[in-house]
Amino acid sequence: LKAGDTLLYLDGVSVSFDGFKALNGLSFTVAEGEMRAIIGPNGAGKTTMMDVITGKTRPDVGEVYFGGTTDLTKLDEAAIASLGIGRKFQKPTVFESHTVWDNLDLALSGPRRVFPILFGRTDAEGRRRIEEILETIRLTHRRDALAAGLSHGQKQWLEIGMLLAQDPRLLLVDEPVAGMTDAETEETARLLREIACDHSVVVVEHDMTFVRDLGVHVTVLHEGSVLAEGSLDHVSADERVVEVYLGR
Ligand code: ADP
Repeated sequence: LKAGDTLLYLDGVSVSFDGFKALNGLSFTVAEGEMRAIIGPNGAGKTTMMDVITGKTRPDVGEVYFGGTTDLTKLDEAAIASLGIGRKFQKPTVFESHTVWDNLDLALSGPRRVFPILFGRTDAEGRRRIEEILETIRLTHRRDALAAGLSHGQKQWLEIGMLLAQDPRLLLVDEPVAGMTDAETEETARLLREIACDHSVVVVEHDMTFVRDLGVHVTVLHEGSVLAEGSLDHVSADERVVEVYLGR
């Protein structure tokens, strides 16, 4: 493992809560431009791992580097977000009373544009970017709809679009297909594969069909460290993985 060759680098990361090790020497890397799926049973440490990357939780020991040289353990959440690490939580948090377009415009233009009176000032380039994102998230036909009127799946896509609008270097996506219909789940795999063509992405997910559709390398977490890594076929054939996770 070498920090300089990777976009995201975790080495020997441990986090304890009241003596219980939620992460226990977790080491793992994500290359620039890679999409990686993280799976593992409940309590494996997936959320804690995301919290460590985004600065919400500080590791007791271990290294976390971004872009080769930036030590994330020295930075707070705001500073880490401003490096271009965007996180999508499981529950979508879109602005329900605004249109799809305005949600994306807000995300693109940032906090300076929180007042409705300033909407519409986005320049031609920004508007082109919003059009592009609408295509990616399959919502061009709903651009003028209020977010409140979207399906659960469409809200998830809109939130992914809002992250894209901030032009992230790394997207962290937490259980994107929880609660989605089968059709939405399939579409989400396609959508994320498109996004992964020009972004680095880490997806935490339980849905195995979806992970298979993503077609990316998988990291299996168990008891706060990496149990197995590789293609889904490779990790599915690992007896330890079957025992702790897939066989349940
Ligand atoms: P996962 O996301 O894989 O389900 P988590 O990272 O949420 O796993 O949790 C890992 C372990 O750490 C769990 O056993 C959980 O109960 C524990 N844990 C997580 N956060 C806290 C906390 N703030 N205080 C105490 N225990 C926690």
